Amino acid sequence: MAIDPVCGMKVDERTTRYSYAFQGTSYYFCCQHCLETFKKDPAKYLKK
Ligand SMILES: [Zn+2]
Repeated sequence: MAIDPVCGMKVDERTTRYSYAFQGTSYYFCCQHCLETFKKDPAKYLKK
């Protein structure tokens, strides 16, 4: 399972339709909204 970096939900990377490659890594999202939010400001969700 992958973790949605925006909301923290577990996402099944085999079935989700929402994925995005950023700096050579693929990220997976629970919904279109989280994907769009991530795209706007990826760095915000990768830094902790
Ligand atoms: Zn989400």
